[in-house]
Amino acid sequence: MPKVHNWQINREMDYPYEESRPKKQVAYVFDTNKCIECQTCSIACKTTWTSGKGQEYMFWNNVETKPYGFYPLGWDVKILEKLGAQEWAGGTYAGKTVFESAAPGERVLGYQPGEEDYASPNVGEDDVSEVVQKGAFFQGIHKTWMFYLARICNHCTYPACLASCPRKAIYKREEDGVVLIDQTRCRGYRECVKACPYKKVFFNLMTRVSEKCIACYPLLERGKQPRCVETCIGRIRLQGWLSRAGEEKRDNPIDYLVRIRKVAIPLYPQYGLEPNVYYVPPIHVPREFLLQMFGPAVDAAVDTYRKAKDDKELLAALLLFGSSDQTMTSFKRDGDAVLGYNAKGEQVVRVPFKEPVYIRPYFDEKNNVYRHNIT
Ligand code: SF4
Ligand code: SF4
Repeated sequence: MPKVHNWQINREMDYPYEESRPKKQVAYVFDTNKCIECQTCSIACKTTWTSGKGQEYMFWNNVETKPYGFYPLGWDVKILEKLGAQEWAGGTYAGKTVFESAAPGERVLGYQPGEEDYASPNVGEDDVSEVVQKGAFFQGIHKTWMFYLARICNHCTYPACLASCPRKAIYKREEDGVVLIDQTRCRGYRECVKACPYKKVFFNLMTRVSEKCIACYPLLERGKQPRCVETCIGRIRLQGWLSRAGEEKRDNPIDYLVRIRKVAIPLYPQYGLEPNVYYVPPIHVPREFLLQMFGPAVDAAVDTYRKAKDDKELLAALLLFGSSDQTMTSFKRDGDAVLGYNAKGEQVVRVPFKEPVYIRPYFDEKNNVYRHNIT
């Protein structure tokens, strides 16, 4: 099997195809500390792409409450159990990826979810980590915790869905790294559903072919951010382009957050897919849980994020989230504001660090009415 380099696990690994990186790689940063689980993103995606027959159960975008939320049921704990306890040696993954632990004759270690696993898209919503004891009261630190995890296809650099497809129906676009299924080639074997450890491929029982998130590529091609990013109420999302290791640019907001400040890190890097959705980890969650989910880079990410309020350049990059429907390829701090630019170099936003507040007179003489300052 060819050897490829995976920067997220800091080593070479086995993958069924040679290393071939796209010219540009679509990437996202999701700040878990800001998500309110309103599901606007899920509905924006659903009404745009999956409102047809056979797509009823599909959520290309879903948001689940950790630790007990999953869609499909137990998607991550099931594959973690199969993989077994694995270790990191410093920043290098010393265990096996899902490709390296595949059974003889198979390309990926995976499992096929059952029909019942898709029955409850919002199982565990708002459930906290442990039962709140009778008589317990707040003592400064919350003992119980939970957080919201927004999930889409990661448009992985080494997609397990692509690796597993016996028909070679799945491909990664050279121009932007988007992973797509050629529906005319797909024969519905569902190897991709079994292989994707994030369970982001769905089988359409009506058309008998598999489907997945397409990164809203018609929008990407026009320099616009995908629907789930544009509509996000919590402004937790930013889509852009991630440069290759060693070619990162400080004024590219995705490079800055992922490669330079390392405040946004991949989900389950140990699977070995080099996923391209990067998460700012939740800072209030016990470190053992975060280590399992995001790997050893989580310590530095949490520390950096905690200091963001006094770190104006980092604050500037974080304030770009949800500020424009256009993809921003560069940004610049301008005093106590941040400017965002599109691929043509045009300024598309100016976001102040502090939103101005206007207090209006309680009595409006012109209209002869009293009013509240709530809007
Ligand atoms: S729209 Fe944004 S804030 Fe709302 S659930 Fe989705 S990711 Fe979270
Ligand atoms: S997240 Fe799953 S469906 Fe998406 S590219 Fe990676 S392996 Fe394929």
